[in-house]
Amino acid sequence: MTARVLVVDDVPANVKLMEARLSAEYFDVTTAQSGPEALALCERAECDIVLLDVMMPDMDGFEVCRKLKSNPLTHHIPVIMVTALDQPSDRVRGLEAGADDFLTKPVTDVALIARVRSLARLKMVTDELRLRALTSKEIGIESPEREAVAETGRHGRILIVDDRKSSYERVAATLSAEHTVDIETNPSEALFHAAEGNYDLLIVSLGLKDFDGLRLCSQVRSLDRTRNVPILAIAEADNNTRLVRGLEIGVNDYLLRPIDKNEMLARVRTQIKKKRYTERLRDNVQMSIEMAITDALTGLFNRRYMETHLATLVEQAAARGKPIAVLVVDIDYFKAVNDNHGHDAGDDVLREFALRIRKSIRNIDLACRYGGEEFVIVMPETDMAVATMVAERLRRRIASEPFAIQQGARNLEVTISIGIAARGDSGDNAAAILKRADTALYRAKRDGRNRVVPDAA
Ligand code: GH3
Ligand code: MG
Ligand code: MG
Repeated sequence: MTARVLVVDDVPANVKLMEARLSAEYFDVTTAQSGPEALALCERAECDIVLLDVMMPDMDGFEVCRKLKSNPLTHHIPVIMVTALDQPSDRVRGLEAGADDFLTKPVTDVALIARVRSLARLKMVTDELRLRALTSKEIGIESPEREAVAETGRHGRILIVDDRKSSYERVAATLSAEHTVDIETNPSEALFHAAEGNYDLLIVSLGLKDFDGLRLCSQVRSLDRTRNVPILAIAEADNNTRLVRGLEIGVNDYLLRPIDKNEMLARVRTQIKKKRYTERLRDNVQMSIEMAITDALTGLFNRRYMETHLATLVEQAAARGKPIAVLVVDIDYFKAVNDNHGHDAGDDVLREFALRIRKSIRNIDLACRYGGEEFVIVMPETDMAVATMVAERLRRRIASEPFAIQQGARNLEVTISIGIAARGDSGDNAAAILKRADTALYRAKRDGRNRVVPDAA
């Protein structure tokens, strides 16, 4: 895996050094010698990760980081701050500016490469989601960027996995100030607990007595229900190889003992912020998928989805020698509803009608809005006799109970006509069955409406 790393430092020698080390690991390196130059490159989406020097004239690293993280165009790009300072307070300042991590000069190769790799991997996942989520903006879904920039990373649900009382009590006390915290002291229960609890973050001690904390981390990563929960590891200061291993298997961040409280709070917020952002992206992608296949007014499937699936369902029925029935349903004199009571009243009727359809069919049946006030219901494994019963029941359910319109101010009598066709021995295809149901519907209309007419063929 490769990634484009932007190295930002005002001292050319530092840039050169960093560039050489990253290039040796096959990263694609770009450089900038000032904050404004770096911001411009990021806005043009020309990098995946930023290595940012803190001490720069004019605009220092903290300010560059804040600007990146508050801009909807760039907030998702991981930032690693690099500094000669080694005070927890500086680290915390960097993290509070939104930095994803903090490395102290002289930077060791192992730490550098492990961090860059792990952040690059996460960035790839986010990018993939962003790509799909952005296209959904065009069909009117709110983009998650605005919320992401305002997100504080507070009020998360956190599970601490640690068997040392003195340790977990202190961690929990600090985090409880702004999060809900649970503690699991039995590592063998931790995976189950994590999967059940709907957590925003797991904090795993790597110093468990008889249990390898990294094994737990890797199990969390491979289980579907916990795959996307971030992990923050807590390790002893001298355990670099374990941490590098941890980052490789998907630990998102770590803290070294003795734990600095503010640093912990800041790192926890960062992880929760990121998790919520990717969650929003995922929801957004999911929603755009739903929008592509459903009708917005009624929530039923749309015509395109139905046509695709009807073909598949008819083929399946043919292959298994099972019947399948299709109902075409049309509201009678619907134009008059609009004309007499207004278009909104018409919409009320359509929504309520869709609801009643849902109540009248089984889960495996497929209900869709085929056009304005015309609906299609596909019923697998259903023959003409049963389909006629279902249709008759639906017709009665509509005709017998008036529809409420104008927020319940008025009631309206509504009737429907239904044409039915089933896949018989003729073995015709989806389009032909639909056509026959439509012809039957035409006869129902012609014969006086408010009736069910089975296809005669
Ligand atoms: P018939 O008994 O022969 O089916 O008569 P009808 O009036 O129901 O049929 P017609 O096709 O003449 O009119 C259908 C009407 O449905 C016309 C159109 O304005 C209305 N319509 C279509 N889509 C919508 C919608 O989304 N909302 C509302 N309120 N009306 C709609
Ligand atoms: Mg500098
Ligand atoms: Mg009609």
